Amino acid sequence: MSFWRSDYWALGQTLSSGRLGADMPSPDLSAMRLASLNHALQEELGLVGDLKEMNTVSEWVLDASQPMAMAYAGHQYGHFTMLGDGRALLLGEWQNDLGICYDVHLKGSGPTPFARGGDGLATLRAMLREFMISEALHGLGVPTTRSLMVLETPFKVWRDVDQRGGLLFRTAPHHGRIGTLEYAIRALSPENYARYTMAILDRTTRCWSGTSSIDQEQGLYTLGNSDPDGVRSFFEEWSKRQAELVAHWMRVGFVHGVLNTDNISLLGITMDLGPCAFVNSYDLNRSFSSIDSHGRYAWGRQSEIMEWNAGVLLSCLLPLLDGDQKETRAMMIAKELFQQYRDFSKQALECMQWMKLGLDPQRFQSNKEAHSLVSNWQAWLVQARPDYYLAYLNLEDKIQQAMQLDSEAHLVDGLELESAWTISQDDLPSKAWVAQWINFLKKAGEDACQDALSLMQSQNPNLIPRNHLVENVLDQMVLYNNDADWDELMAAMREPYQRGGLNRRLNQPPPLSDAGYCTFCGT
Ligand code: AMP
Ligand code: MG
Repeated sequence: MSFWRSDYWALGQTLSSGRLGADMPSPDLSAMRLASLNHALQEELGLVGDLKEMNTVSEWVLDASQPMAMAYAGHQYGHFTMLGDGRALLLGEWQNDLGICYDVHLKGSGPTPFARGGDGLATLRAMLREFMISEALHGLGVPTTRSLMVLETPFKVWRDVDQRGGLLFRTAPHHGRIGTLEYAIRALSPENYARYTMAILDRTTRCWSGTSSIDQEQGLYTLGNSDPDGVRSFFEEWSKRQAELVAHWMRVGFVHGVLNTDNISLLGITMDLGPCAFVNSYDLNRSFSSIDSHGRYAWGRQSEIMEWNAGVLLSCLLPLLDGDQKETRAMMIAKELFQQYRDFSKQALECMQWMKLGLDPQRFQSNKEAHSLVSNWQAWLVQARPDYYLAYLNLEDKIQQAMQLDSEAHLVDGLELESAWTISQDDLPSKAWVAQWINFLKKAGEDACQDALSLMQSQNPNLIPRNHLVENVLDQMVLYNNDADWDELMAAMREPYQRGGLNRRLNQPPPLSDAGYCTFCGT
């Protein structure tokens, strides 16, 4: 097994005066030390050897003969900017024994031609944080870039004070972003842009269908020809995936924090985990990023802002949407696709809300009472701002209690439930709502309560990486070189839906919720 690099990444350098990447040497790893390793991902990649040994890591990295800083642009807070990997390198593409392809990317590897005055470095703390959050998202079933390992570098990194330096190895099926196309459309001739884009879209659809393997004997990807139907179906699939991704973020309380188009993957996965965080209470206006003072990327605005980003992606695809390159026809198609994105997005969010309450959207779609149960619950969440996770876990307890209490399957009333309620009522809506919800399920059929319970247990995590837990673990790791809490939280986050045990103990909100908690980009 070895690294290679597909034609399309190198294309920009050879075909245009614009530069779509810059070859860079690999960083010297000899004086680094392994800070954290993802054994499961190491195995998945088929990487043999002890990665604690820097010689082993060096050998692997040096096998990548042409590491490259990738160029991309992006709309940041609504404004167009030329960017590129200022502190990251694509080592190359790696294929495991099963033929699955991974881009292996370094973050914090030193300044590149796209560094724009930045130091190209990253702190150990920020890279460990990205490692933890990406793996937590993965455990929660949210598509994301993954983290293989973090090395501690011998360099001090200046961020108001000197901090320990870190280097993250992250993987993804590929690292193409909306911003990659925004750059290419400006850097390449129309013909080369079309070929380049078709090649990336082809790679993306292969990744989606699980057929990304490359016959290295044959060499690299052939660059695609224009194919308007292919572009349309790419966008449709991206729309579904992206809409579902945002619904996942809402489901698990994740605030990405910096939804600029340079951070939006063409694959529909979470990427660039900088100022992200998790809400505690149900506050749709919550944003954590120090620079998001107007809440553009607040938790509850993620869906709306992703529509905006979908519009930017469509604007890049516009020249490829109509075979005859008729602008008015392409515009019509783009409008339809945009509307379709909005429909997917609305649908994905609604389904998520229903499933969190144990209601199968397909089964109860035409039931008025189910609609009113969901909308009343959502209204209660907005008004009462309970702890988002405990609210659902408490409901789960209620349905379990009702099932035990009521083996004869008669309907319950508020009083009966009251005597069975032993936990705090703060994170529950009115007893009338709870009784209505339970009775609705009881009336729906013999197994409806059990089905609802199982659905809820698959949708509502019993543990998320609460901000205070993450910060505490990072303090332990970086300030005190103690990795016991890190190991405990990482292990728990691999099975966040498991009921009982450690999860419920860890999953307590901090006394003051997350008042004053603030995150930063580019650390
Ligand atoms: P991010 O907020 O991580 O998405 O970064 C936005 C842009 O700034 C990207 O082009 C990054 O590569 C670049 N960048 C962030 N931090 C640094 C740094 N310390 N040195 C150089 N470039 C950076
Ligand atoms: Mg970024």
